[in-house]
Amino acid sequence: IVEITGLHKAFGMLEVLKGIDMRVERGEVVCIIGPSGSGKSTLLRCVNVLEEPNAGSVVVNGYELTDPDVDIDRARRSIGMVFQGFNLFGHLSVLDNLTVAQRKVLKRDATEAERIARENLDKVGLAEKAGSMPEQLSGGQQQRVAIARALSMQPAVMLFDEPTSALDPELVGDVLGVMRQLADEGMTMLVVTHEMQFAREVADKVLFMDGGVIVESGPPSKVIADPAEERTKTFLSRVL
Ligand code: ATP
Ligand code: MG
Repeated sequence: IVEITGLHKAFGMLEVLKGIDMRVERGEVVCIIGPSGSGKSTLLRCVNVLEEPNAGSVVVNGYELTDPDVDIDRARRSIGMVFQGFNLFGHLSVLDNLTVAQRKVLKRDATEAERIARENLDKVGLAEKAGSMPEQLSGGQQQRVAIARALSMQPAVMLFDEPTSALDPELVGDVLGVMRQLADEGMTMLVVTHEMQFAREVADKVLFMDGGVIVESGPPSKVIADPAEERTKTFLSRVL
C-alpha cells in the first residue's frame, strides 16, 4: 500500500535521504528505527506529502505522489499522521477536534461525523472526554485524541513519528496500548519509534536507518534480536 523506490531528498547541500526503497503491505506494521538525524522523519514527511522528493517515486494507496497530475488532496486522505507533539486544535473541544476535518474535508454531515468521532474516542478509551478541552487532558490522553482524530478520517495507512517520545514515562504505555490494538485490528502502520519493545512485539518488519539509507531490514527477530550489520548492533547496544 506504500511503495517507495529510489527516494532522494536533500535540503540544500545536505543529502538526507540517499536512495530509499521500501514497501508496506496492507495490514502490515513496519517500524523504522535509527539514530537522530538519520532521516526517519524526512522519510515519513515524504510519504505524507509534507516534503517533496528530489528523485524517486512514492506511491500510497495507488496514488503516485510524485506524479504532477496526481490529485494530492485525495491522496492525502488515504494517510493519517500522528506526530511527536499532539497538534490538537487548542480552541476546540475534543469532539470538535475529531469532527472538523470530517465535515470540512470529507463533507460528512454533523450527525455522521459525531457518530464516527465518538466511536473512535471509545476505541482509544476516552469516550467520557468528548466535551473536554485539550488543555484539560494529560499528554497521553492528548496523543490518544490525536490518534482518534486521524482514525476518524478512515485512512488506509497510519503514520506515526515518535508518538510517545514527548510523554512522561508513565503515560507511554497507554498510547502504545492503543497502537498495539490498532495493529491487532489490521491497521496498516508505518511507525518511527525508539520503543524497541513495541517494535519487537508488534512490527511485522523493522527498518534500521542510518545516514539516509536503510542499512538493514527484516522481521524484528532478525533486525532487533540478531542484527547482521555492525551499525545496527552499535545502535541497538546504545538504546537497549
Ligand atoms: P530524530 O530521531 O532526531 O527525529 P530523524 O531521523 O527524524 O531524527 P530528520 O528529522 O529526518 O532525522 O532529519 C535528518 C536531517 O535533515 C537532519 O540533519 C536535519 O537537520 C535535516 N533536516 C530536516 N528537515 C530539514 C529542513 N526542513 N531543512 C533543512 N534541514 C533539515
Ligand atoms: Mg525525527
